[in-house]
Amino acid sequence: MTEAAPRITVAIVGRPNVGKSTLFNRLVGKRLALVDDRPGVTRDRREGEGRLGDLVFRIVDTAGLEHADQGSLEGRMRAQTEAAIAEADVVLFMIDGRAGLTADDERFADLVRRSERPVILVANKAEGRAGMEGAYESYSLGLGDPMPISAEHGEGLGDLYDALVPFFPEQDDDEAEESEEGAPLRIAIVGRPNAGKSTLVNRLVGSERMLTGPEAGITRDSVSVDWEWRGRRVRLVDTAGLRKKARIVDKLEKLSVADAIRSIKFAEVVVLLLDAATPFEKQDLSIADLVAREGRALVFGLNKWDLVDDRGPALARAREALDRLLPQVKGALIAPLSAETGEGVDRLMAAVVKTHEVWNRRISTAALNRWLEATLERHPPPAVAGKRIKLRYGTQAKARPPSFVLFGTRTNELPESYVRYLVNGLRETFDLPGVPIRLSFRTPE
Ligand code: GDP
Ligand code: GDP
Repeated sequence: MTEAAPRITVAIVGRPNVGKSTLFNRLVGKRLALVDDRPGVTRDRREGEGRLGDLVFRIVDTAGLEHADQGSLEGRMRAQTEAAIAEADVVLFMIDGRAGLTADDERFADLVRRSERPVILVANKAEGRAGMEGAYESYSLGLGDPMPISAEHGEGLGDLYDALVPFFPEQDDDEAEESEEGAPLRIAIVGRPNAGKSTLVNRLVGSERMLTGPEAGITRDSVSVDWEWRGRRVRLVDTAGLRKKARIVDKLEKLSVADAIRSIKFAEVVVLLLDAATPFEKQDLSIADLVAREGRALVFGLNKWDLVDDRGPALARAREALDRLLPQVKGALIAPLSAETGEGVDRLMAAVVKTHEVWNRRISTAALNRWLEATLERHPPPAVAGKRIKLRYGTQAKARPPSFVLFGTRTNELPESYVRYLVNGLRETFDLPGVPIRLSFRTPE
């Protein structure tokens, strides 16, 4: 086995039952390396080769400790956790996003904090946005912003990917903040069967181009191809249309939402290709919703535009449907195009680049707080049970997608409608069309 670069080691740490093994199994799949299955031997640490998108790393998990039946359980857990942390280049500290913080969480967090290793705080069991209440409490751990994921359902892995990328030396230039020009912009093209994905891939990449097949550093069955658009590097990642073109899949797959999920996680901008004759069908909406939940930027391609006679009204109808059916990506760009003739393909790429810029945008704390003040003045939060909910100040926690934290009191009682008012305000004031906006709240102790 040859290794070009030293392996990055990732440790999953947390109290029992938060879902460490589940995440470990998801990242390692069937490639589990060293499991000691001999009866009577307590499995203290497991390790394996983890993969997420094109990242490959050594992963260490401290699961199984709760089954230890001799000695001081707590002492052993502590020792094993410390050992795992010591080996790690980055620690995934996991809490249960539904359960809220426990004394055990605090104890493990303490070990992590004292190690001074880089840490990514992961709030698990947050599928379908459920139970983020517990995650908000975790701000008090002082380990940064909790990242909601669901190890069991595979949600939030795109965010995890983004968080891990900076720890991989050869991927340094992928950090948009460091070198915007050098890093390829990762796009995926998804859509219903027959929307025209393969045709568009051919059009974009050109048939003479070599496709990058499965090779070192790329997940076994994923395909990607790099090309340039107006001097800008673009990487088309694991897209159903691409796989079809590359004949990696022999028989024509039945393309479905499940295929889209894979591509979406590792793209920065997702192009959702619609058939202009039947745009925004149920399956299109599911895919769009998934893109928003995964925190990716979204652009719509309205394909087969060559077959549309009443272009003006058709585009207006599509815009109206988008605003009505997908408020979570309000203002997303719709690019009419014909993958077959090439008309509008340039416009689509311009929309992709523009949306990528929005997705990466950072709003200054001063501007954000000016906005907050004006917003509260115009329409203050309601009183709940006779008491005012107060919002005091805010900051942008991260970009990719734009994520904000507002600090105040009783914020967990804010009604949904008020949260929507805030999100819409952020979107309009800071011109953030077509990207999911994340807004969380925090009550300082
Ligand atoms: P560990 O002790 O931290 O390794 O936790 P496990 O991976 O053994 O998971 C503990 C329990 O949580 C199991 O019943 C899992 O099925 C469940 N679990 C793990 N991840 C998730 C998740 O994302 N969502 C939900 N709802 N349950 C999960
Ligand atoms: P996929 O299943 O999404 O990959 O779709 P394909 O690329 O295989 O296209 C499905 C069908 O739509 C094929 O017969 C294409 O020739 C046709 N098609 C794709 N793009 C266009 C377009 O822009 N205009 C027209 N008229 N037909 C198209």
